[in-house]
Amino acid sequence: MSLIRRRKLTKNQTRQIQKNQDKIIDDGTLVGGVIVSHFGRQLDVQITELPQIIEEGVSLAVGDIWRCHARTNLPMMASGDGVKFSIDTTANLGRIEVLSNRRTLIARPDRYNKVKPIAANVDTLAIVFSPLPKPATNLIDRYLLIARLSGVQPLLVLNKADLLADFADVEKIYEEYQLLGSKYGFEIIKTSSVTLGGLSELNAYLQGKLTIFAGQSGVGKSSLINQLLPNANQSTNIISVGSRLGQHTTTTSRLLAFDDSELSKGGIIDTPGIREYGIWHLSDNDIMVGFDELYERRGQCQFRDCNHAQNAKGCAFWQAVLAGEILERRVESFNELVKEAKMNASSARNQFK
Ligand code: GDP
Ligand code: ZN
Repeated sequence: MSLIRRRKLTKNQTRQIQKNQDKIIDDGTLVGGVIVSHFGRQLDVQITELPQIIEEGVSLAVGDIWRCHARTNLPMMASGDGVKFSIDTTANLGRIEVLSNRRTLIARPDRYNKVKPIAANVDTLAIVFSPLPKPATNLIDRYLLIARLSGVQPLLVLNKADLLADFADVEKIYEEYQLLGSKYGFEIIKTSSVTLGGLSELNAYLQGKLTIFAGQSGVGKSSLINQLLPNANQSTNIISVGSRLGQHTTTTSRLLAFDDSELSKGGIIDTPGIREYGIWHLSDNDIMVGFDELYERRGQCQFRDCNHAQNAKGCAFWQAVLAGEILERRVESFNELVKEAKMNASSARNQFK
């Protein structure tokens, strides 16, 4: 009985919310935009679409950035989110009223198991590595996993290709990922910010897409971003500044557009959030999603509860390694991530005891 009543209430609430949203959509004064920075509940929105009706005295232009806060009933939002906002002319602030459906979402759970969005509508996760610092292949694999889990297309970028002549082992890693990518649908591009080799190829790949760069510190992400966005260092003009909300000190995340007047041409989301993506909430099966060649062999081990250790009897993964079909280090990478997830999960549990 109580269950039914509760469901009815939920339906009514849903309808009410829908009605409210429809009302907001219909009045013709909402401004369309994309979130380009977020600082908790404060968000900067870059205008992509002007409203039908603009109040007298309000100056609005496509490409302008408005500081906004959000309606309380909206979920947490992040850079890349498409929104519609209303304008409070007295405070010179926007209020986000509508959140558009997301094509993709990179999100991580926080300590309280609440989903924290890192970036929305990202097309490409560019995973950068280099000869120096030495590639950490398990970190590359971890980012491949995040891409697969978020529905984002991975792209591997081997930067500092000008140094490759001295690093045959890195050339080998390049070839291994190239083979993996050709089987499972991702590309790998060699670049150099010094010789500028590969940059036009990278640039062509990224046009029309929203991209996040990930990778070890020192591999040259900032150098690549500066090459791709020569104007990124010019401070963008923030039209609306809410004095009551105070000034932002640190920017946690920024969307840098290739063309400020046309965000559909894509851009780069520069965010440290991707580094904070913990994996303690992931099951073994979730983690396998990031390993295409292992996922393909799921359920083929002799024992259902196979732990895929090198000495595990009848393990399909290790049989494939022996047959030269897959790489030993990828199975090891998988096992390490599974172990890490279990350890983090138990330490998270202990923390709340
Ligand atoms: P980030 O930490 O990934 O953002 O890396 P940075 O862009 O700050 O670059 C780290 C260092 O590598 C800097 O000293 C850059 O000058 C250097 N670097 C960046 N790209 C290249 C490259 O293609 N070739 C070489 N040889 N050095 C590079
Ligand atoms: Zn196994």
